[in-house]
Amino acid sequence: MAGRRSGESAPRSISGPQAPLVWKFGGTSVGDHDRIRAVAQRMVDAQRSGRGVVAVLSAMGKSTDALVAQAAAISANPPLRELDALLSVGEQISCALTAMAVAELGGRAVSLTGPQAGIRTDATHGGARMLGIDPARIRAAVEDGAIVLVTGFQGESPDGDTTTLGRGGSDASAVAVAAALGARECEIFTDVPAVFTADPRVVPTARRLATIRPQEMLELAEAGAGVLQPRSVELGMAHGVDIHLRSSFGTEEGTWIRGGAGDFEVAGTAAVAGVAHRRDEHLYTIDAPLGAVAAALAARGLVLGAVVSGPATTVSVPAAAPEAVVAALDAAGIAVASREDLGSVGVVSLGLARAPGVVTATLDVLAAAGITPRLVTTTPARVSVLVAADRVDDATRALHAALVVGEDTGARRTAA
Ligand code: ADP
Ligand code: ASP
Ligand code: MG
Repeated sequence: MAGRRSGESAPRSISGPQAPLVWKFGGTSVGDHDRIRAVAQRMVDAQRSGRGVVAVLSAMGKSTDALVAQAAAISANPPLRELDALLSVGEQISCALTAMAVAELGGRAVSLTGPQAGIRTDATHGGARMLGIDPARIRAAVEDGAIVLVTGFQGESPDGDTTTLGRGGSDASAVAVAAALGARECEIFTDVPAVFTADPRVVPTARRLATIRPQEMLELAEAGAGVLQPRSVELGMAHGVDIHLRSSFGTEEGTWIRGGAGDFEVAGTAAVAGVAHRRDEHLYTIDAPLGAVAAALAARGLVLGAVVSGPATTVSVPAAAPEAVVAALDAAGIAVASREDLGSVGVVSLGLARAPGVVTATLDVLAAAGITPRLVTTTPARVSVLVAADRVDDATRALHAALVVGEDTGARRTAA
């Protein structure tokens, strides 16, 4: 995955004539047989218009959740290698069925698993990191006239085992495949028409964005905007791949994630790009040395967040499912003494370090809504607040209403 250095601005040209279209379809987009047929039709149409097509597919609908539940029914702490062997099946089903649908339309498609597609990862089962992609087989199939369907979310460890990349990982697979093929763009088809200034399911007044800077998108994704997996945004930045997030149910343009840093700070004020939330964000009280806690989490690819040391040690593990945290600690013989079930809201503003008013405004808005912050953390680009899980939606709506207004990307309100 050699490519442009992170931070260099990516050219906006359409992919070179030799680069195929690289698409990704999420779970809802291949959620049933009719949708699979519609996806196949879109691919066949594009190929007939003269373009090579490589599509990375997710598992159908919520089928990965169903596989997770099957594993849980057998074991509370299954061997991670076997869990990956199970979870990787979902993407293989959608790719094989879509290949059949293409054949029904008179086209030709070949499905490739992550290992078959040359996607190499490290050996961290359940949260593997892609090390590189050898695109030879994908390229050969495209040159042979086939539509190539690559399973998202998976790759091959140095031992030759199948690994998975972490939930939502198909986005990263798609951008990595685009980079490996030399494509300048990766189109991600999903069940919303665009990236919005907040999750439109929670904030009905959220604005759709025509473009968003990669740095802002990364912050939103890290704060819980599940519309794109953070790693996919990082890969796009590192390899100069523009991401186009759009609806799989139509042809309209969605949101382009591209562009350089630009001037996001004006006279000591900072634009708020958006608000993101998470419902599953907890504080864990642990009676063990901090280093051991961090190491136990790291062994499962989890990162220790905030730490409050007192008579007892309380920690957060941002973005990690509580079952994964408990399992990681359990595997190292560390017990969780208690757990406070919370959620989080994140306000993203790239100029925040020089515009502390964003933090003040965030806390004022929460106070006015009667929402008590349980933990506040700030970075130069984001303020994150843990709040009671049942107040997350209220907090998200109140912060969005106060800090993000205006049409499209042009007129975001600034917080002094
Ligand atoms: P896919 O299965 O296609 O990968 P996801 O469910 O992972 O789709 O992501 C799409 C969902 O992301 C939307 O249905 C929406 O509820 C949610 N979402 C969260 N934050 C945002 C946001 N800022 N803009 C758009 N959608 C968002
Ligand atoms: N099927 C996987 C998941 O549900 C990967 C993905 O859809 O991106 O997390
Ligand atoms: Mg997704």
